Amino acid sequence: MGKLTEMLYDRRRHIGTASQARSKKEWMKEQTAAFIRAAKSEFRKTFNVRTSIAALAVLALTSVGVYTAHDKVKTATPVYRVYIDGEYTGVVRDQASIQEQMEKYGPLLKAHVAFLPVHQAVKGTNEWTVANAIAESTKTMVDMVVVRVNGQDIVHVKDKETAEKLIQTLEAQYVKPDSNATVKLSEQVDFVPLHADKQTLVSFDAALALIQQGKNERKTYVVSRGDSLWDIASKNNITVDQLAQANPNIADVDALAEGQQINLVAVEPLISVDTVSEETRELTTNYEVEYRDDDSLDVGTEKIIQDGKEGKKTQTVRITRHNGAVTKEDVLSEHVTAEPVKEIISKGTHKQAYSSYSGSAAPVSGSWAYPIGGGYISSQYGENRGGKPHLAIDIAAAMGTPVYASNNGTVIQAGDLGDGYGNCIRISHSNGVVTIYGHLSSMNVSVGQAVQKGQRIGGVGSTGDSTGAHLHYEVRVNGVHVNPTPYM
Ligand SMILES: [Zn+2]
Repeated sequence: MGKLTEMLYDRRRHIGTASQARSKKEWMKEQTAAFIRAAKSEFRKTFNVRTSIAALAVLALTSVGVYTAHDKVKTATPVYRVYIDGEYTGVVRDQASIQEQMEKYGPLLKAHVAFLPVHQAVKGTNEWTVANAIAESTKTMVDMVVVRVNGQDIVHVKDKETAEKLIQTLEAQYVKPDSNATVKLSEQVDFVPLHADKQTLVSFDAALALIQQGKNERKTYVVSRGDSLWDIASKNNITVDQLAQANPNIADVDALAEGQQINLVAVEPLISVDTVSEETRELTTNYEVEYRDDDSLDVGTEKIIQDGKEGKKTQTVRITRHNGAVTKEDVLSEHVTAEPVKEIISKGTHKQAYSSYSGSAAPVSGSWAYPIGGGYISSQYGENRGGKPHLAIDIAAAMGTPVYASNNGTVIQAGDLGDGYGNCIRISHSNGVVTIYGHLSSMNVSVGQAVQKGQRIGGVGSTGDSTGAHLHYEVRVNGVHVNPTPYM
């Protein structure tokens, strides 16, 4: 029991209401006090004065009903039992004068004082006692400031300075100290001086948390081992975008740590901060790729004749943000600092004539490596294939068997051009020699890459026009097919 309550209780012991049966009086007191406590607790939670008053009104009606049913005594004029913080204080006949007295203490006192109309035979009323008790209860009232958002009382803080510090703290979350941003609150926020019960005062930290947590229920999730953002979103029936919005402070969503707590619901604070700032940023611009037909290259081969290079530009933008999230971007000016450089690629158009088949090995310089780590030759060079000679050597081998570059060179193709070779690598060597590795299941190199003799470039497969896992090894010299045997 607080000091005030004790004091009131003592006083009541002396005054009492002798006309009431003790048991009924106790029963009523308990019932009423329980209702009022519930209403008060609701009041503290929501800070909504109207709710509490409404709850008390409902309580008053309910109690009258209950009481009348139990008590056959009725008089024409009701009197009012007065409760302060759920404690019975006395009976008054003139409710209006007491309420008038309370007006000067504002709505919060109203929430602490309840009137219960009763029909009872009362020998005397306690106007003086009740007035005194109310005056006494105001001794716990102090000057404070209520933060009012769009006309609704949100929280009571010590003074104007504390209220101002709250707003400054909210703003500082979204505005860097050296920023040129203009800052505006989305809501109409007023600080209104108030004389109210000091129990309703809230600390700075609690007030800040209340404002920041806002209207939505705060649902969180603790990251477990191996969780991806996508996992968490789908487990909780939200989209990855919504999850990202709910966690604007997580910059790198791929770096979620086990045990980390993240929000599942975007929190809309009671007071939002809108900023508008002018910022300068550097952007890169993509380059174009131009293909040029080249009859000096075979169909299916490409050669980069000019490397592409990204361009750069500087933009001045006006960025509008709501609680740190970008809502609008206006480009104010743009200045190109480096033009992009077009990539130019020669695309071979030269079709191999059947007559280019010589059937004999061309002179070969240097030593060459065997292009595969196993298997057996399943089709020789020049073998009849439906009336046409096979212009390569096929080596059948298990799927995935390593395929090696048969000499130093530069990769000029690493991909499937849809020409029947499937995944195919072509390497350009010195003296106009090009080696071709067809039907691969995997490729470890990319166009433009320099490779060494014996370097693993891929794995045997059966892609393209192929009926089983094998390496199609083909060699051309200056665009003309030659027998690959000396080149392996
Ligand atoms: Zn073949």
